[in-house]
Order: sequence, then C-alpha cells, then structure tokens
Amino acid sequence: MPQAANKITLGEMRNGRAGARGLLVFCADYRCSHMTRLPPAEVDRWPDDVSLSDLEPRFICSKCGRRGADVRPDFRPARMGTC
Ligand SMILES: [Zn+2]
Repeated sequence: MPQAANKITLGEMRNGRAGARGLLVFCADYRCSHMTRLPPAEVDRWPDDVSLSDLEPRFICSKCGRRGADVRPDFRPARMGTC
C-alpha cells in the first residue's frame, strides 16, 4: 500500500502539489467496484478541514447499495497553459 491518501483533508488536497479538487469515490465492495466521480463544484460544498476518511461513511453505492466507500483525490491533469 502506498501512503494512506484518505487521511488527508480536503484543504491539503486542494492546496497540495497536485491541486486536486475533485474526488473519486469507489464502492467499498471490491467485487462491485462501482466508481463515481465528484466534480469540484460538489466537493467545494465541504470545508477544508474535512478529511477524505470523514466522507467515506457518507456514501452509499448507487449500484449495490452498500454503505461506505473508498474516497480518493481525483488527480486529473489540470489544464495546462491557461494561467
Ligand atoms: Zn457497489
């Protein structure tokens, strides 16, 4: 396992080197492995001091109905050259 990415807070994620603002939410059941992408507009509703592990119990899989999820930063490459 790499470092526990879900211990970081949304603030650390937003201000980190990668600057991720969206989230990837994976179903906790690996056999289901349903994945949902939360766009930055939705993630911005939560304050900076919320950690990813705080959010995990809040999700219910829309495919299998299981509660709990694996939340990770969405490190999609930022648009380059637009600043
Ligand atoms: Zn599921």
